[in-house]
Amino acid sequence: MVDLIVIGAGPSGLTAALYASRAGASVLVLDGGAPGGKLNNTAEIENYPGVIKKGPELAYAMYEQCLSFGAKYEYGEVTSIEVLDDHKVVHAGDKAYECQYVFIATGTKERVMGVPNEAEMTGRGVSYCAVCDGPFFKNKEVCVIGGGNSAIEEAIYLADIVKKVHIVVRRDVLRADQYLADKINTKDNIEMHYLKKPHAVIVENNKVAGLEVSDSNTNELSVIEVQGIFPFIGLDPMTDFVKNLGIVNERGYIEVDRNQETKVSGIFAGGDVTDKALRQVVTATNDGAIAGQYIASLMK
Ligand code: NDP
Repeated sequence: MVDLIVIGAGPSGLTAALYASRAGASVLVLDGGAPGGKLNNTAEIENYPGVIKKGPELAYAMYEQCLSFGAKYEYGEVTSIEVLDDHKVVHAGDKAYECQYVFIATGTKERVMGVPNEAEMTGRGVSYCAVCDGPFFKNKEVCVIGGGNSAIEEAIYLADIVKKVHIVVRRDVLRADQYLADKINTKDNIEMHYLKKPHAVIVENNKVAGLEVSDSNTNELSVIEVQGIFPFIGLDPMTDFVKNLGIVNERGYIEVDRNQETKVSGIFAGGDVTDKALRQVVTATNDGAIAGQYIASLMK
């Protein structure tokens, strides 16, 4: 039995673990991947005040810092949380962990386009991580799909690596912040394709050969010849394992109060998985700090 189980080792989970363990709680962090969450897929962090670092470096610093206060870390894909009268049980694979409090910080996962050949070619030309797979496309052309901050940030990153980046946007405007939109003009190897929707991944000789797009107004089909496809069309919260607890809203995000507590007493949540206006590293760490400190205060 530990005081607190943190589910998800991104910035929010690691900060909750840091604050709670530093305040004397016994803490176990469970994650189904490497510590750091989405930081690991982020090239450069520019808007976490006072810190300009590569994402994986910041992730590792946060991880080491929370372990230094006694938090433990284990690999574990959590499948459910059982709420008993006087404690909780967190199930991960064939293991069950007992605790007083739970902090859920599982974040979001990338939305897929849902077009023919996308699933088959994932990892073989279709990728959801520019930092991980961009270097495979040196001297090649790639498509980035989406007009939000993620798509534009990743396109700018890819433009420094690949021969040419085509950005496919379904409307005639970007959703991204203006400062990012302005950066597109600093790259002469980015071509914009407005009013185009992804329709199919074109495969030739078992390799990606292009993206078929349909015109948003006329539905006319055309092909953009590329060897790599990077969809960044939004995110969905990772909350399937808590749907039975009645703590998520209609869009699947977890609702919390000012202490980051859900309506199930003793279950807290923070970071991108919660219903909030701004999903950033700085707001994720904010949530983790509030919950970690509050949980530690409940034990006194
Ligand atoms: P967003 O939801 O902000 O943008 C998704 C983009 O994909 C939109 O342009 C949307 O078009 C488009 N899209 C959605 N579905 C489809 C589809 N089926 N086919 C084609 N296009 C589609 O998601 P992001 O992942 O960009 O960002 C998520 C959150 O993270 C945001 O709050 C963002 O601000 C934040 N973020 C902040 C960063 C920063 O500040 N540096 C960096 C990265 C993310 P439409 O506009 O028409 O809906």
